[in-house]
Amino acid sequence: MQGIGQLRQNGLRELCLTTNGVSLHRKLDDMVQAGLTGVNLSLDTLDPFQFQIMTRRSGFEAVMKSIDRILELNRLGAGIKLKINCVVMRGLNDREIIPFVKMSREMPIEIRFIEYMPFYGNKWNRKKMFLYQEMLAVIRREYLGLMKIADHENDTSKTHKVPEFEGHIGFITSMTHNFCGTCNRLRITSDGNLKVCLFGNSEVSLRDIIRKENHGLPIDNETLKSLGFLESMDNPSRHDGNGEPVHERKREILKIIGMAVKRKKAKHAGMDELKNMKNRPMILIGG
Ligand code: SF4
Repeated sequence: MQGIGQLRQNGLRELCLTTNGVSLHRKLDDMVQAGLTGVNLSLDTLDPFQFQIMTRRSGFEAVMKSIDRILELNRLGAGIKLKINCVVMRGLNDREIIPFVKMSREMPIEIRFIEYMPFYGNKWNRKKMFLYQEMLAVIRREYLGLMKIADHENDTSKTHKVPEFEGHIGFITSMTHNFCGTCNRLRITSDGNLKVCLFGNSEVSLRDIIRKENHGLPIDNETLKSLGFLESMDNPSRHDGNGEPVHERKREILKIIGMAVKRKKAKHAGMDELKNMKNRPMILIGG
């Protein structure tokens, strides 16, 4: 994170972390020092007992401590955008929608309710789906004034607000109103694969492309320097017949990334197809 944080001086605008929040409170201060600007915290329940059942671990108090620490650091000016992501499942945590909304009364945070979606290995069951419209209805029964806020062009969430509340409420409606048409997300997994869509299983190994120059072997810092990899992104490797600079490595990588992006679909497959599609589970994609 410190390494990535240094890129802020080169124009990196945001450095966000997706986390379950269990050990975050211990590391947060150092992360803020490193340049952290946002936290997406996955939390599906506010009931300590249910937390233990759903996550198969203890740690609810630790998650709350992390949230408190973020808010405390924000009061000191850290400016961390906190989003709490809650996947709503019928019969499991749908009764907690209102308690989650209430969290946004005093706290300047965004609670994002996510429609449950089929992922390889997540024990998908269509009956557990709790739809966006149902969530809206539950909230409007309690807070009639819930109002829609304008979203940015590439936002994945539909933002709302209870007028007198500090925070916001968002809905990620992946199943009922997909937003693939405006999705500009690209992901690089921790094992170096470029993944252009959460629900697509095509991946390109950027790691292997870079390692090719080191006979397929891992590249440590020393080798990276000796290969001059980072410098070559800025400095041309040669000039063409017209004297124009040519960046061979950059060109090859951009071409591969470009081809992968063009394979991004206009819309993800339907749920019946997705439930049988081999894909990484969310935990191996990383948020
Ligand atoms: S399904 Fe893929 S294209 Fe659609 S919003 Fe999600 S990541 Fe973007």
